Amino acid sequence: MEARPIRCAADGAVSLADLQETLKSLQGRPVVLALTCGTTMKGAHDDIAGAIAALDEADYGRDRRFVHVDGALNAMVIPFAAGAAPSIRPSFRMPIDSLSTSGHKMVGTPMPCGVLIARQPHVARVASAISYLRSNDTTLMGSRNGHAVLAIWSRIARHGRLGFAADVAGCLARTDRLVSDLEAAGVPVLRNPLSLTVVFPAPAEPVVRKYQLACDKGRAHVIVMPNVDDRLIDRFLAEYTAWWRATSPLSQRKTNQMAS
Ligand SMILES: *Cc1c(COP(=O)(O)O)cnc(C)c1O
Repeated sequence: MEARPIRCAADGAVSLADLQETLKSLQGRPVVLALTCGTTMKGAHDDIAGAIAALDEADYGRDRRFVHVDGALNAMVIPFAAGAAPSIRPSFRMPIDSLSTSGHKMVGTPMPCGVLIARQPHVARVASAISYLRSNDTTLMGSRNGHAVLAIWSRIARHGRLGFAADVAGCLARTDRLVSDLEAAGVPVLRNPLSLTVVFPAPAEPVVRKYQLACDKGRAHVIVMPNVDDRLIDRFLAEYTAWWRATSPLSQRKTNQMAS
């Protein structure tokens, strides 16, 4: 398969105009479209409904397209967030084909694992009857980790819908606070609505190392997960804004970089 990257807007979400252009240039060849609910660097939410409308307009029927939504982080945030636009909510109420989320992010399993949910006809296409197992193998690779399945089940059963909703409400409130305190200090911040990801100019190396910040092109981000409490945010804010104030001529340059 040939991969075609789609341009994104400044907020990090897929540009529907570029998607339309790309679909036109494919002259009807079938497509697998990968959308994201919470992109890695900017925490952006692709407009799922808009992308599907673009496929419909380009005359891509459901037999010639496959729409996957990568919701590694935010597929366990957006459904619990009050006021999320239906167009960014990852849901099988929309004609998507598959949806994935990680176990070790918002779900909170102690080992890396994840869930991929696909529509039944797609599962049937990879399933094969294995006589010695007396069952259908519906995995892509054969064996899977049973402990991971139990860990996800345990978190969902014990933490429950209300537990995840409380986590999301708390994380969103602490993200709001982090953003407003950074902005109050004059730091240019990028934060997508209902996202736990906050992007700002990458600070000096000691701060980067101490807080294990992921940096890319002069920017860094933090993700306010349920373990990030107010004390940690206060400590980080004190050290980050101290660096920011101490480097104001430089910070001016970084401000311009962020804007571009
Ligand atoms: C974390 C992340 C991944 C990787 O998921 P794993 O379950 O850790 O393999 C993929 N996509 C996005 C958008 C992510 O945030």
